[in-house]
Amino acid sequence: MINFTLKQLSALLAQKQLSSVELTQAYLERVARLNPGLNVFVTVDADKSLAQARAADALLAAGKAQPLTGIPLAHKDIFCAKGWRTTCGSKMLANFISPYDAHVVEKLNAAGAVILGKTNMDEFAMGSSTETCFFGPVKNPWDRTRVPGGSSGGSAAAVAARMAPAAIGTDTGGSIRQPAALTGICGLKPTYGVVSRYGMIAYASSLDQGGPMARSAEDLALLLNAMAGFDARDSTSLERPAEDYARLLAAPAAAKLPLGGLRIGVPKEYFGAGLDSDVAAAVEAALAQFEQLGAKRVAISLPNAALSVPAYYVIAPAEASSNLSRFDGVRYGYRAPEYGDLADMYAKSRAQGFGAEVKRRILIGTYVLSHGYYDAYYLKAQKIRRLIAQDFAAAYRQCDLIMGPTSPSVAFALGAKVADPVQMYLIDIYTVAANLAGLPAMSIPCGFGEGGLPVGLQLAGNYFAEAQMLAAAHQYQLATDWHLRQPAGTE
Ligand code: GLN
Repeated sequence: MINFTLKQLSALLAQKQLSSVELTQAYLERVARLNPGLNVFVTVDADKSLAQARAADALLAAGKAQPLTGIPLAHKDIFCAKGWRTTCGSKMLANFISPYDAHVVEKLNAAGAVILGKTNMDEFAMGSSTETCFFGPVKNPWDRTRVPGGSSGGSAAAVAARMAPAAIGTDTGGSIRQPAALTGICGLKPTYGVVSRYGMIAYASSLDQGGPMARSAEDLALLLNAMAGFDARDSTSLERPAEDYARLLAAPAAAKLPLGGLRIGVPKEYFGAGLDSDVAAAVEAALAQFEQLGAKRVAISLPNAALSVPAYYVIAPAEASSNLSRFDGVRYGYRAPEYGDLADMYAKSRAQGFGAEVKRRILIGTYVLSHGYYDAYYLKAQKIRRLIAQDFAAAYRQCDLIMGPTSPSVAFALGAKVADPVQMYLIDIYTVAANLAGLPAMSIPCGFGEGGLPVGLQLAGNYFAEAQMLAAAHQYQLATDWHLRQPAGTE
C-alpha cells in the first residue's frame, strides 16, 4: 500500500476496499516508527488526523468523494492550519497555534484530504538543507548522514520515506524542487499567483509560491488541481478559469511518439563549471530519453543566469526583513522572559527568538534597503530580475520547455555547508531564476549519482505551462522507473 499512487489510493477508498481511517492509521504508524531516526515531522496529532479521516469516510459512504477525499497529506509547517501548532521551523513560533487555515489548507480540507502532520523545514524557509530549523536537522532517507535539501526538506523526506503518500511545500528560490531532487521525489512550483499565499507564512512575498510534492507527475497534477485557485485575500492571486492540470497526461492517440514535436531548450549556462559530473551524466541520459520519446533538443542561452543568485540574495532578504518585522514579541510568538522598556523587549525577543541565518537575512535586507545603498543593491537587483525574465521570454520563442539539472550536486553531508552561507546560496543556482521570473518549474528523479544518491531533472515552462510540463514528465515516467525507487531502510 505504501507504494500506491494517489490515484490508486483514491480508487481503493472509493471501492470501500480501504477506509481513510485505516489508511491514516497506517501512515501514523509509519511516522511513529521512522520519525525518531529522520526528524521529518515537527507535529503530529493523531486525534485530529483521525477525526478528519472519519469525516472523509462519511463523505465516501455518502458518495460525495472527490479525488483526494480520505488521503493523508504531510503539510510543510509554514502553512497555517486551524488548531494546529504552526512553527515555521522557528523558536519564534514554537508555541503558536494557528487560529485560521491557509487558503491551500482550506482547499485541501474541502477536498476531503487529511492533515497527517506538520513537517520540519529551514527556519522561515531560509536555507537549502533543512539544517537551520529550531527543531534540529532532517536526515535524508537515502543516507542519514546527508541533508534532504531545503527548505521543504521535511515534506520531501516524508514522501521519499513513504511516511506520507504526498505532501505540500513552498518554493521561494527552489525549496520544493531542490529537496525533491535530493530525495528522489517530484515537486512543482507553479506560476506565481496560481496558488494563494494567504496563510502561508511570508518569507519573500514576490517570490513565494506553494506547490505539491509527490512520487509522480500524475500525483502532482491531482494535488495542484485541489491547491490552485483565486483567493481575494492574496492581492497577487490570479483570477483565471479553473484548469485540469491532468488534462494532457494521456498522449494524443495520433502521435507516433508521445512527445513528438516538443522542443526542449537546453541552456548552455546550466552545464558549465560548478556542475558535478555525476549529476551531468544523469541529466544527459534523461535528455536522451526525452529525445527517444520524440522531443527535439534545442541549444539555448540564458545569458544572465549567473546573476540570478546575487539578485535573489538581495531581493529575498529585502522582502524578508520587512515581512519578519511583524515578529516583535507583542502580537504573537516568542517574548523574552525578562526585559526593560518596550524597545528592549523587541530587541531581546527578536535576538532570542530568531536563529542565526534568519538574523543574517534581516541584516542583509535592512542594509540593501537603507538610504544610500538602495540604488546600488536593491534597485540594481530589480533591474537584473527584469533581464532574467527577458532571457526566458526570448528562450521560449525557441523552445517549449527548458530542461537541466535541479541542483549542481547530489545530497551533501549534514554540516558540510551550514557554516559557509555563500556555499549554501550557490546551491540555488539553477532554481532561483524561475522564482525571479514568476515562471513554473518542477523537478523529477532521473537517476543516481555519487553514493547512490538521487539526481533531479528540472523542467521549466512558460507562464501557465504546468499541464504541459506535467504531461512531458508523465511520459518520461511511463518510460522509466527512477521515480519508483524507495530508499533502503524505509520498508
Ligand atoms: N535556498 C533558498 C533560500 O534560502 C530558497 C529557499 C526557499 O525556496 N524557501 O532563500
